[in-house]
Amino acid sequence: MYNARCTISALAPIVHRALYIIHFSLMNPSHAQEEEIRVDESVHEPVDFMTPIKGMTFFDPHIHMTSRTTDDYQAMADAGIVAIIEPAFWLGQPRTGLATFKDYYSSLVGWERFRSSQFGIKHYCTIGLNSREANNEPLAEQVMELLPLFAYKEGVVGIGEIGFDDQTAAEEKFYRAQLELAKEANLPVQIHTPHRNKKEGTERSMAIALEHGLDPGMVIVDHNNEETVKSVLDKGFWAAFTIYPFTKMGNERMVAVVEQYGPERIMVNSAADWGISDPLAIPKTAALMMMRGIPVEHIRQVTYQNAIDAFAQSGQINVADFESPSEIDQSQTFNGNTILRGGQQPRRDSKSIIIN
Ligand SMILES: [Zn+2]
Repeated sequence: MYNARCTISALAPIVHRALYIIHFSLMNPSHAQEEEIRVDESVHEPVDFMTPIKGMTFFDPHIHMTSRTTDDYQAMADAGIVAIIEPAFWLGQPRTGLATFKDYYSSLVGWERFRSSQFGIKHYCTIGLNSREANNEPLAEQVMELLPLFAYKEGVVGIGEIGFDDQTAAEEKFYRAQLELAKEANLPVQIHTPHRNKKEGTERSMAIALEHGLDPGMVIVDHNNEETVKSVLDKGFWAAFTIYPFTKMGNERMVAVVEQYGPERIMVNSAADWGISDPLAIPKTAALMMMRGIPVEHIRQVTYQNAIDAFAQSGQINVADFESPSEIDQSQTFNGNTILRGGQQPRRDSKSIIIN
């Protein structure tokens, strides 16, 4: 059963017939997990999603590359992803001291940016204290002291991802403090909305941002679904959607959202991290949109341009950096370190069966 689900999560988005097999409840994203999933053998047939999007370029405004491999970087580059934003997040288990926060933020503006450059992908990040770890108040207080040291660094395009998880008092306290930091630094805010009580958490996040005097045009509300999108757009915020197998939005549903609401202020991301997720979610969704007849210009807006327009308000994005890519030289080093292991040659042809 587990394997069947994995296979479906990878292929269903691009197989029309799968619509009839898997029913995604529009109002309850977790519903698909509980439902009996019948497997149609046709979904096992590989579908070429690269052909419909040939020549297109993509910007993923939410992906946690620290948790991903060089194979992912290569596949992303091959699929047309030219630039990404890596929001500061938690690591799957709570950090126990300030030094690990500092090292993590340093890696987002340092080693990870270098690693990405070795595959021709421009890497930006947002810096923030995530909502889960806001609940360790003594440590969170120290992290708040650290944030301004990173928020003003080159390539930092926002404060994020911040907001609510369990919607506790501590989460609210540090969310508010970071909104003030964003205002002071004149940076966009990237809001993580909670998976539980999403609608309430999203409304509360927006109300607090407005209370602090933030311009909704400087705030990207993430992890939207059909329940939250209308209110987010009506209030003038950017609405980001995470294409995430089973737990958030599947990309069939994403196509329907764009059909219903159009492309204005909507952006798609993968939020790929250390869990089951798909770093190619954006190119696959773009391919599905092509196959479903969404106008190319609308696809470009939701998979590329809107994210740039929103985060370029930081003053940190120069599109020339990824629209006219320079030569990749995998023999470069960062503080003396390289992505190549001792004696390795830079990768040239990933299709070769010979590994040397
Ligand atoms: Zn995230």
